[in-house]
Amino acid sequence: MDFNDTAEEAAFREEARGWLAQNAAPFSIEPSGLAEDEYNALCKKWQAVKYDGGYAAITWPVELGGRGGSPIQQVIYNQEESRYQVPSSIFAIGLGICIQVVNKFGSDDHRERYVQKALRGEEIWCQLFSEPAAGSDVAGIRTSAVREGDGWRVKGQKVWTSGAHFCDFGILLVRTDPDVPKHKGLTMFIVDMKAPGVTIRPLKQINGRSDFNEVFFDDVFIPDTDRLGAVGEGWHVCVSALMFERHAVGNTLGFLEYNNIMDIARDTELAGAPAISDGRIRERIVDMYINSRAVDLLTYRAQTALSRGTLPGPEQSIVKAIGAYQGQQASYLAMDLRDQFGMLAPGELGEAWGIVEYSWTWGAAMRIAGGSDEILRNIIAERVLGLPGDIRVDKDVPYRELAA
Ligand SMILES: Cc1cc2nc3c(=O)[nH]c(=O)nc-3n(C[C@H](O)[C@H](O)[C@H](O)COP(=O)(O)OP(=O)(O)OC[C@H]3O[C@@H](n4cnc5c(N)ncnc54)[C@H](O)[C@@H]3O)c2cc1C
Repeated sequence: MDFNDTAEEAAFREEARGWLAQNAAPFSIEPSGLAEDEYNALCKKWQAVKYDGGYAAITWPVELGGRGGSPIQQVIYNQEESRYQVPSSIFAIGLGICIQVVNKFGSDDHRERYVQKALRGEEIWCQLFSEPAAGSDVAGIRTSAVREGDGWRVKGQKVWTSGAHFCDFGILLVRTDPDVPKHKGLTMFIVDMKAPGVTIRPLKQINGRSDFNEVFFDDVFIPDTDRLGAVGEGWHVCVSALMFERHAVGNTLGFLEYNNIMDIARDTELAGAPAISDGRIRERIVDMYINSRAVDLLTYRAQTALSRGTLPGPEQSIVKAIGAYQGQQASYLAMDLRDQFGMLAPGELGEAWGIVEYSWTWGAAMRIAGGSDEILRNIIAERVLGLPGDIRVDKDVPYRELAA
C-alpha cells in the first residue's frame, strides 16, 4: 500500500484544490432548508460548472466531454471535492452507474445522444432493477418485454427506484426469455421515463421525504435501438452496473464519525461529569475509531490499485458493510448521549446535529441499498475468504418452472 501522492498526483491535487476553492465554495450549502426542486436546480447548476471546468468525468475521453485523465485523478478529485458540501446527490446513480453502462454497452448514437447531456447535468438518470419480489436476487425479476415490430412491449413493476420522479431516463432490466434459467433470459434497455404507460408513484419515508418510487410499466413500447447489449445478455450488463457502483471509491457515505461523537460526548453531561470521561463511552468511541481506520486503510488499498492501473478487488464490500453499520451505530450512540433531547431537530439543537439526524434516518437504508449486509458478507465469504458458495438451487432451472 502506498499512502503518498506521486509528483504527478500531487500536481493534479493542487490544481483541483485551486479550482474547487474558486468554484465550489459558492455552492457549499446546507441543503436541509431547500425544497426538492430548489435543491435539484442547484445540483444542475453545480454540475454544469463542474462540466465546464473539466471535472465532470475525469477518466472519460475528451470527445465525450471528459478530461482523458486517470482513475487515480478521479479519486483525488473526489477526495478534494468532499471537503465542500456541493449539491450533487441527484446525479450519484445516473453518473455513477447508468451513464457508465450506456457508455460501455451502448452504440455510438447512444453515446452521442445521452452522454454529454448527462455529464452536464441537463438530464438525470435512474436505475430500474429492483422489484417487489426481486432485490438481492435481482435475476429473479418478473417485469417482461415481448417483441413487437421494431421494438418491445414492457409490462411489470419496479420498486425503490431512487429519484425516478425527477428523472428523464433510466436503465431498465427486463425478462425477455422465461424459458431459460433466470440469469440467462434478461435484457437491458434505456427507457424514457416520460413514455406513455410509465407511472411513477413516490414512496413516503419516515423522515417525511420521498426519495424513491414505485414505477409501473403498462405496455410501454421501447424501440429495439434503445437496447443496451445483446438480447439475453442483461445479466452481464447488470453485473457491470453493480461493479461500477462498487468501484466508486474515494467518496464517503457522509455519515457521523468518531470525531463527531467525541464532540457530542465533550458537550454532554453523564453522572455529573462530561460523558467523554466515562469509560463505557470511551470504549465505544475507540471501537468506532478502529473501524474507521480499517475502512480508511481498505480505501487506500483500493486507491493504490487504481493508481497502478488495476481495479480494486471484492474487499470494497467490507468498506460498505462496515461504513454503513458504523454510521448507524454512531447515530444511536449520539441519540443515547442526548437522552430525551435526542428527539429534537437540528433547528433546536444546532446545525451540528443535522449529521446525527441524517445518519439516524439514513443508516438503515444504507445497510440495504447497494447490497444488504448479508449479501456483502456472502461476497466477502466467497470471494475474499474463499469459503464455499451460497446454495443456489435454482441456477439451472428454466425461469418459467420456478415457484413464484
Ligand atoms: C435507499 C435505497 C435506495 C435504493 N435505490 C434503488 C434504485 O435506485 N434502483 C433499484 O433498482 N433498487 C434500489 N434499491 C433497492 C435495493 O437494491 C434492494 O433493497 C436491495 O437489493 C435488497 O433487496 P430487497 O429490498 O428486495 O430485500 P431482499 O432481497 O428481499 O432481502 C431481505 C432480507 O433477506 C436477506 N437475504 C436475501 N438474500 C440472501 C442470501 N442469499 N443470503 C443471506 N441473506 C439474504 C437480505 O440481506 C435482507 O436482510 C434501493 C434500496 C434502498 C434502501
